[in-house]
Amino acid sequence: MKRLVLSLLLIYMAGACGKQQQSSPSASSATAPVSGPFSSQELQEFTALDPIDTHTHAYTSNPDLFAMLDRLNLHILDIVIVVDNDKTHATWTNFFRVRKAAWGVVHNSAGHASLCTTFDPYKFNQPDFSKNAVREINRDFAQGAVAVKIWKNIGMEIKDAKGNYILPDNPVFGPIYKDIAAHHKTLIAHVADPNTIWEPPNPTSPDYSYYMEHPEWYMYNKHHAASKERILLARDHLLEENPNLRVVGAHLGSMEANFNQLAQRLDRYPNFAVDLAARMPYMMLQPRADIIAFVTKYQDRLIYATDNEFFPTDNAQKTALVWEDQYANDWRFLATNDMLVEQSSGRKVQGLALPQSVLRKLYHDNAVKWFPGILGSSH
Ligand SMILES: [Zn+2]
Repeated sequence: MKRLVLSLLLIYMAGACGKQQQSSPSASSATAPVSGPFSSQELQEFTALDPIDTHTHAYTSNPDLFAMLDRLNLHILDIVIVVDNDKTHATWTNFFRVRKAAWGVVHNSAGHASLCTTFDPYKFNQPDFSKNAVREINRDFAQGAVAVKIWKNIGMEIKDAKGNYILPDNPVFGPIYKDIAAHHKTLIAHVADPNTIWEPPNPTSPDYSYYMEHPEWYMYNKHHAASKERILLARDHLLEENPNLRVVGAHLGSMEANFNQLAQRLDRYPNFAVDLAARMPYMMLQPRADIIAFVTKYQDRLIYATDNEFFPTDNAQKTALVWEDQYANDWRFLATNDMLVEQSSGRKVQGLALPQSVLRKLYHDNAVKWFPGILGSSH
């Protein structure tokens, strides 16, 4: 889930509140950062890409959500997760309830959403765990689910009987990975978190507000926590052990601060791609020429995504606007020369103005390639 991006969005909303700018390409200049919802011309260019967001958590069939998806010509992959320590959405921690709500979104979305299911890893030491997980996953595959997600609770929360954190390459998950590959579906792996979670508090990091609000995920002061390196090595081991399994690493594969490391992994594992969800600030903070070179080189392995959330308890109108602002700001960064503000640092950043052919891959083609069936599963 994406508490992280929510925090960033809240900062953004707080900043924009009451003085939201209606942007237009002609209004932008080197000194006037652009923000706010799409202008009509921007919207036209965005919708022409047939955009897909492969990382969302929408658990309510709300008309405002569907109207926004329709207006933006947007397809979403709705991801089910199992959480047991989320205090913000305590009623949304029940796996079956979340799964039912997400299926509701898919069925009510008029083709705008498809589903990524999951399994309950907290049951990993129960007899027949793998068998039961595979049965449940296959039930969702039969209904059109296109992917399965593992989450950071594997590596950062769940411990074995000896008190050791279980890791993504734990043999208990092996049959599940084999089953996903056998069904030609995709594994989304959100393992580990930004480096800053393991470092002393740093108010200027893009993640600061997130881990202040979520001490349960702040590994820096947790004794015996698995290191980030150890968790990512386990993820790499999973990639090696399952060469026929397509794996999409959520959040730049948690290598947000080291694009060389990410490039190495993409070079080493042809079955690996990453989504950009909730890590746009890290891309914005790279030297512009470097990030353009990186995106150009790996244009077939990067998938546009946000980690946007829509809960039944949310103010629907406001949430739909937050989503749209996110799409507009991300699009300006990737597609235009506009000056933007990276919210955590306050730094002005110029958009990358990526060519149309690259944008088309990021926003559409790569999602279709890495998640076969993503556009057809809801029909
Ligand atoms: Zn997420």
